[in-house]
Amino acid sequence: MRLKNMLKFRLPIKSNSNQTIMGSRRKFIQKTLGLGMALPLMSTKMASLGLGKKRDGEVPIILCSRGESWGKKVLAPGWEKLQKNESLLDALEVSANVTELDPDDMSVGYGGLPNEDGVVQLDASIMYGPTHNCGSVAGIEGIKTPSSVARLVMERTNHIHLVGEGALRFAKAHGFKEEDLLTDKARRMWLRWKENLSDKDDRLPPEDGDYGLDRPTGTINVLGIDQEGNIAGITTTSGLFGKIPGRIGDSPIIGAGLYVDNEVGAAGATGLGEEVIRTCGSFYVVERMREGMSPQEACEAICKRIIDINGGEKNVDFNDKFVAVNKSGEVGVAQIQGNDNWKPELAYQTPSGFKVVKGSYLIEV
Ligand code: ASP
Repeated sequence: MRLKNMLKFRLPIKSNSNQTIMGSRRKFIQKTLGLGMALPLMSTKMASLGLGKKRDGEVPIILCSRGESWGKKVLAPGWEKLQKNESLLDALEVSANVTELDPDDMSVGYGGLPNEDGVVQLDASIMYGPTHNCGSVAGIEGIKTPSSVARLVMERTNHIHLVGEGALRFAKAHGFKEEDLLTDKARRMWLRWKENLSDKDDRLPPEDGDYGLDRPTGTINVLGIDQEGNIAGITTTSGLFGKIPGRIGDSPIIGAGLYVDNEVGAAGATGLGEEVIRTCGSFYVVERMREGMSPQEACEAICKRIIDINGGEKNVDFNDKFVAVNKSGEVGVAQIQGNDNWKPELAYQTPSGFKVVKGSYLIEV
């Protein structure tokens, strides 16, 4: 009997969005006592990253939680609309749809990695500042663009959250086509993952089949502010690869994977969703900005909060990443784990051009 290599799937996992969920080797950058003390004590690392300085904001702006190559692809169609002062929601939706429709992105929409049963279940949310309204779908199957369905939940129902079969029926009633979302590449990765899950079952990985050893993660947040200063956001994902069927992550939960306040700004999360849900992560970021923190400080504050509620860095073997923008268009990005070669990124586009920001991390891995 061939031995299964379970270890491979317990190692830190890098995603195409530079996100890692599980991590083992780590070093806390700064030991801190409480939130009030946390940010000043982190100043050495922050200063070396050029953070802690105020960035000048500019609107209109559209940003996403990815770096250069995805950023360019994702933001281009949204910016096209935003710069012509077309609808902010149309701009964000068309940008979010880029990743959702792209089979090469294995963490969002079509081509996303499936759940434990090999079924792709998608989560997405949208929030619109001027009305403080929002909509989301969770565990939806067969629809390539869940963020567009979330927008219809917001605009065409009195509800906020539709899940599973009901969400699919709602989408079909609005003319969405039900399609197979599982690409061959995603199916092969799922099968390989299944075969390596346990050495106490009857599935065996092939001797020579190398379907990739990573367990990629992802999600994308797309946030924007129009010329009138109105703010909106979208978060969309296929969730955790291999999740238990029916599991809902942070992405469709308003206040967790996404939050927008038209007077303050917007924030979005990626990474281990359970941690983001139990800290109301994006809401936390926006409320810290309301109290006067910069987007960068607020993103670092939620990372610190997650570490604290876990009892400190010794218990943190996962990652979460936050992006934020405030009302004046200033941006921030931070993640829990990282190193000099792996810093959290966001990309944004304003009238001054396209830029990529490398943010900060709190635990070196
Ligand atoms: N936050 C997503 C979830 O927990 C996963 C991710 O961002 O990779 O469903």
